Amino acid sequence: MRYQPKRVAVIGAGPAGLAAAAEAVKKGHVVLYDKNRDAGAKLLISGSGQCNIASAGPLEERLLHYPAHARECIAHALKVHTVSNLLAWFEQRGICFEVRHEGTKSPLASKNAERVRGKIFPAEGGAASIRDALMHEIVKGGGEFSGQDAVHKIERTDTGFKVYALKSQAAELYHAVIISCGGMSWPQTGSTGDGYRMAGELGHTIIKPVPALTSVVCPDEEIAGLAGVALRAVRVRVVRKGVQLEESRTGDVLFTHRGLSGPAILDASFLMRGGDSVSLESLDPRDAQECIARVMQLAESAGSARMSRALEMTGLPRAVQDTLAQRAGIDRADRLASTGKKRIAELGRLLVDLRFSVRGVVGMEQAMCTAGGVSLDEIDCMTMQSKKVPGLFFCGEVLDVNGDCGGYNIHAALASGWLAGKSVFL
Ligand SMILES: Cc1cc2nc3c(=O)[nH]c(=O)nc-3n(C[C@H](O)[C@H](O)[C@H](O)COP(=O)(O)OP(=O)(O)OC[C@H]3O[C@@H](n4cnc5c(N)ncnc54)[C@H](O)[C@@H]3O)c2cc1C
Repeated sequence: MRYQPKRVAVIGAGPAGLAAAAEAVKKGHVVLYDKNRDAGAKLLISGSGQCNIASAGPLEERLLHYPAHARECIAHALKVHTVSNLLAWFEQRGICFEVRHEGTKSPLASKNAERVRGKIFPAEGGAASIRDALMHEIVKGGGEFSGQDAVHKIERTDTGFKVYALKSQAAELYHAVIISCGGMSWPQTGSTGDGYRMAGELGHTIIKPVPALTSVVCPDEEIAGLAGVALRAVRVRVVRKGVQLEESRTGDVLFTHRGLSGPAILDASFLMRGGDSVSLESLDPRDAQECIARVMQLAESAGSARMSRALEMTGLPRAVQDTLAQRAGIDRADRLASTGKKRIAELGRLLVDLRFSVRGVVGMEQAMCTAGGVSLDEIDCMTMQSKKVPGLFFCGEVLDVNGDCGGYNIHAALASGWLAGKSVFL
């Protein structure tokens, strides 16, 4: 009898599906479906086409850039497919990398990736080189790519799955299915949430998808005069019904004409919803407590000095100083001696907890990632296999995992994809 290889359907050709298919071709016959004509539509625009593929640094630090609930699960994929392994795979296929950190760029060899800090990009060829290397591996291994072929239904059978796709008259039969349809942000790239629907139909719980890596809209009166102002090193917290959420993010913040943006806001945006407040704690350039102690000292030693001098001691941009003064009920022209300790203490409090109301976050159309998705409780994170449906695997953004800006999402997609591909037919 002729040997019939086992068949795997990989649904969605983003970085997760491409990595899964590149690995699964070693095990059986792979058909990689995508609703777009070409693979990797979102990958190709990542990092403005340059593709921030991962972040350098030790794993314990990098794990902090995923939501607390997802760290344990994604840690396994990231331990198997470390940054070094990931870069080495592409290096073997002729792609070199560079690391960008605080305005500098330097070549990065895979073996050093855990020892340095910064964002990793291909040195040449950008996102297309990453997509093409993965696709080459799939084709070389005998895999098939079926573009413009949206899958709309997956059914379980006694021996595997029936996959219903646009181009086929009848259902195709597979022994295993890997769902890698991505999330539902930037839907024009093809990621429209189909993976959630199909996973739900197969019995999986979907944690409500919400926009992540997006900007925040605030009431006009709260941000008046602040558009264009940037703050360095800020801790961003979210306050809901007066209570601070446990998770926070740190980094730069930018005021826009609609509200707040910048890396720390984008990273924390998945935690926010309308009605919350964003609390900003300035970590730089001055320590808030020390700053207020110095203002108090100044009030005692030179009470005739103006509040403007005290505000300048915060080291914050002038527009932010004005917001602080207004909220603390202070006039720049007031003399320190007549301002009173209470209002100076209020200024100190605002330095560590300057709040802005959240009207909402900018939606899926412009969010760079989706938080929520297939519940991790129902996934065996050692293999990415469903605990509910044997032979069904998930990888990438379709899962309830979202990373911060800095390459955390593509690395998670590739690592979970490779793990899923490696785990079929074990
Ligand atoms: C503008 C932008 C820039 C970004 N830059 C970066 C960056 O530099 N670094 C980083 O780490 N992250 C970045 N991201 C996020 C990152 O691109 C995603 O997290 C990542 O692509 C997710 O990979 P994935 O394979 O899980 O899903 P996707 O890349 O979304 O791929 C899913 C694929 O599934 C296909 N599909 C969906 N439904 C079906 C169906 N029913 N049938 C067949 N095919 C289907 C889609 O067409 C799509 O091609 C960026 C995102 C955006 C929008």
